[in-house]
Amino acid sequence: MIRLGLSGGIGAGKSTVATTFIERGGYHIDADKIAREVVEPGTEGLAALVEAFGPDILAGDGSLDRPALAAKAFVDEEQRTKLNSITHPLVGKRTQELLDAAPDDAIVVQDIPLLVEGNMAPFFHLVVIVHADAEVRIQRLTTARGMPEADARARIAAQATDEQRRAVADVWLDNSGSPEDLAAAAAALWDERLIPFDQNVRSRTAVRGALTLVDPDPSWAAQGARIVNRLWAVVGDKATAIDHIGSTAVPGLPAKPTIDVQITVADLKVADALVDVLADGGFPRVPGIEADRPKPDPATGSVDEGLWGKRFHGSADPGRPVNVHVRPAASPGRAFAIDFRDWLRADEVARREYAEMKDKALAGAGGDLTRYIAAKEPWFDDAYRRIAEWKRARSDS
Ligand code: ADP
Repeated sequence: MIRLGLSGGIGAGKSTVATTFIERGGYHIDADKIAREVVEPGTEGLAALVEAFGPDILAGDGSLDRPALAAKAFVDEEQRTKLNSITHPLVGKRTQELLDAAPDDAIVVQDIPLLVEGNMAPFFHLVVIVHADAEVRIQRLTTARGMPEADARARIAAQATDEQRRAVADVWLDNSGSPEDLAAAAAALWDERLIPFDQNVRSRTAVRGALTLVDPDPSWAAQGARIVNRLWAVVGDKATAIDHIGSTAVPGLPAKPTIDVQITVADLKVADALVDVLADGGFPRVPGIEADRPKPDPATGSVDEGLWGKRFHGSADPGRPVNVHVRPAASPGRAFAIDFRDWLRADEVARREYAEMKDKALAGAGGDLTRYIAAKEPWFDDAYRRIAEWKRARSDS
């Protein structure tokens, strides 16, 4: 089962996207609706609110008078925390009930206006943000929904910023055109990305990135950060570190359009215990890759084959190829991945040399990934020694 987080500022057009997803078979969980349900008359939620804030938060008919509650709860941090400590657990419990009731083969669409404000992005397989500029949203809210302009502006000002939403968006749906345009983009996203993503999670199939070198993409750092955050949510305290590594972690370096991430674990037993967790989280294991190519210790020249074991996972999301290297803390390959990245970040000459070597390796590989990787190995063996020197020089100075 994959879970999609859908969000966007008020008036951005989430409803259009949610409707399209539901029409295509999405299992919709509406956070706004749940937030209303848990404080309906007769609920423990409403009783708790009255207990905390007094009976004058009730309207004449016994239902919650939202403006009256807001006037009491949004005065300071303490009151706000008091409100959230009542409603959040109830919303969480109800959401979990609905998740438990979802069919096994569902693609779950969690429609959450405050997804960004609540730091929930890492808990979804994919985050889709619907966007329209604030002035466009104000125009739509005041006409189509009849909201007073001052209210619309105040609501927008109280929510996350566009930059905050951009930082967590795996998919950014622009709604500056017509509702039909937006619905068509949402339908294409569903058919071309979510359906195959879901099938890949089910069949535990990792997608393969294209074997091609592309110009550095300034968004790689943010993409890496999103994947790192998501992996933390998936593996929790089983990891001791999770890092964006490889060429996409080096600004200005051409790279294969695949994000490399390293999960550091205590040992390979922990790595093996994470196989199912990672697969369910959207990162299925790629079988057959069980070690890095051992390299001689630069100090002694000896090779310790036993230290180089790893596990390797990919991404089930056809829109975002990822290599996930799961390495034990004691693996020299683990340290090398971090040092190599830092060396390339620091050394412009090394960066250019590596980029040229990759070009040549690709040209000679005839489209074969194994040959491409093999062609790079001698240069890496040399880099392994050079980086050891670079580190020594750095620690001496
Ligand atoms: P949200 O659920 O994100 O708060 P809605 O989907 O309710 O936002 O959209 C806000 C308002 O703008 C609605 O009244 C909707 O009908 C209207 N709207 C949404 N998209 C468009 C669009 N592309 N063009 C014109 N009006 C739109």
